[in-house]
Amino acid sequence: MHFTFNYIPHQIEKLQGYLDYLFLEVWLKAQGNFDDTKLKGHPELHKIYVELGYEDGKWAYFFNSSIENIYKIFLDLDEAYKDELKEKFHHNNNIEGICKDVAIEPITYRDIAAKQPKLAKELKNFYGKLYGKDSPFNLKIFGFLSTQLITDYDKQFMSANNKGVCPFCALSDLKGNNNSYREAYDHYLPKGLYPFNVLNFHNLSPMCNECNSTYKLQENPIIKIDPITNDKNRTKAFYPYENNHPDVEINIKLKSNDILNLEPADIDLTIVAKGDYVQEIESWKRVFGLEERYKAILCSQNDGKSWFYSIYDEFENAVELGHTNNVETYYQNIVKEAKKIPLSQRGFLKSKFLEECKERGLLDFH
Ligand SMILES: [Zn+2]
Repeated sequence: MHFTFNYIPHQIEKLQGYLDYLFLEVWLKAQGNFDDTKLKGHPELHKIYVELGYEDGKWAYFFNSSIENIYKIFLDLDEAYKDELKEKFHHNNNIEGICKDVAIEPITYRDIAAKQPKLAKELKNFYGKLYGKDSPFNLKIFGFLSTQLITDYDKQFMSANNKGVCPFCALSDLKGNNNSYREAYDHYLPKGLYPFNVLNFHNLSPMCNECNSTYKLQENPIIKIDPITNDKNRTKAFYPYENNHPDVEINIKLKSNDILNLEPADIDLTIVAKGDYVQEIESWKRVFGLEERYKAILCSQNDGKSWFYSIYDEFENAVELGHTNNVETYYQNIVKEAKKIPLSQRGFLKSKFLEECKERGLLDFH
């Protein structure tokens, strides 16, 4: 990532709190028939359950009946498996740990289905509906998740995270508090794969539409699939809320001097950071298609080619005026400007690209 977000504590976290309580205190401790007294230890959740019981709506019915159905399944689970699930529940909510330490292994719905297919199905059905437009959390009793809670969270989030650009690509702006719409929040570890953390905001980040809806989709930052053997390998990934994120540098080498006809195959692009971040960088590049996207920018008429030819045009003007020495200053200023605010106007790519053109003698006009 180009930079990471600051985490913002917010009352929206109460929703994950309800889910944590359900799992740890109600389902894991299931004994005897279910009734509302099983929720008494969490007065707020208890009140919600009782009140939803009087409502007719499908969301109210879905929320309460899911609690009851999953409780019934837990009654039949043996203690050893419950202990295993409890350990994995904590893993799945330790997003920072999962990103940084490959020994912390989260559990997937598929893992659960291998031993308890009915449980996997009910959990996926429940957690799968809790985020988004069709979530029961959009009911007034929960605080209107989509229309109020997330909107308010996003407002606070964006005032504390106001760089204005997507940290995953630095190619697109992120909508902020001056926009009437907000960016969608992405589940960094895909919510279709991992149970227990659907409202854990350490796993949710705003992301530009291109990163979210075109490139990342269901890509999993912590699993690399071998293209030949199809083997799945656990890998480290950047944690979007990391406090000590390294500075990353994007280096560009060209294999051709024909900038007018430059193609992606003519470019070597590497991303480096001080320290051992090989796996994190690899995951970042893979999930967000960075190599393809950055190379396409360098080959684009509006970016790479135009950066190069604006200096070239300046040279041709200078020849007419007899001031060719000024072209060197012009080049230096453009590179300096691009480096000064690297995340603005794709400056991080522009400075490296022009420096490489210079290195290859394409911008020497003496
Ligand atoms: Zn992006």
